[in-house]
Amino acid sequence: LLDIINIDKSFGALKILKGCSLKVNRKETVVVIGPSGSGKSTLLRCLNLLEPADSGAILFDGKDIAGDLRNAPAVRREIGMVFQNFELFQHLSAAENIMLAPMKVSGLSRSDAHDLATDLLRKVHIPEKADFFPDELSGGQQQRVAIARALAMKPKLMLYDEPTSALDPEMIREVLDVMAELSSDGMTSIVVTHEMGFAKRAADQIVFMESGQIIENATSEDFFSGTVNERAQRFLDQIL
Ligand code: ATP
Ligand code: MG
Repeated sequence: LLDIINIDKSFGALKILKGCSLKVNRKETVVVIGPSGSGKSTLLRCLNLLEPADSGAILFDGKDIAGDLRNAPAVRREIGMVFQNFELFQHLSAAENIMLAPMKVSGLSRSDAHDLATDLLRKVHIPEKADFFPDELSGGQQQRVAIARALAMKPKLMLYDEPTSALDPEMIREVLDVMAELSSDGMTSIVVTHEMGFAKRAADQIVFMESGQIIENATSEDFFSGTVNERAQRFLDQIL
């Protein structure tokens, strides 16, 4: 589904991504780990065209989307993204947050969009929160609304950037459970997270980034059986 070939990205004189390559097959879940500042968010932002890559190719469904921000609206219809801080529209209810893009972008009627929101809120296990506003929801519930909102465009790929790192511990599980369910239902996903329990449960591939490079790319099996690169191992020892 996705073939990232040797992408570079600089901000000014600072090289942030240095020749990153990664293949993601349909229905796979890839977990990306690595120290702060290693370029994990930048990598996701390049995929979603929030930033243009400077060079290299990003083949998504066979088409090179890298670098050209004019592809962004079309790409974002097919690639959903979930952020650390939810980024919900505060003046809209949970259902309305989900309905907005399907109505505006896909031209769904209000009632069809409402049905879709109802389905998606059920999928993230908060059907009773449809008419609640973000400030009336817990962090874990808000993040699940954000996931439902991303799913509303029926994306082919979901990107999650540290989706649970702003959450209190008791809410982390409910969000990871939803993500793991989506993964096992076949949603292709790239997840930046240091939740290694989730990685063990849901990941097919685990990618370790350092200083803008992909240092290690292992199957989950290899990774958790201890056959990892020494620097990746050192990082793991720090976070576990
Ligand atoms: P964290 O774990 O802290 O989220 P990260 O791995 O996601 O880190 P990035 O956010 O991708 O790291 O940032 C990588 C580097 O790029 C950092 O040094 C950061 O300061 C720099 N950077 C990111 N975005 C910009 C920008 N828009 N302009 C300039 N520098 C940036
Ligand atoms: Mg980041």
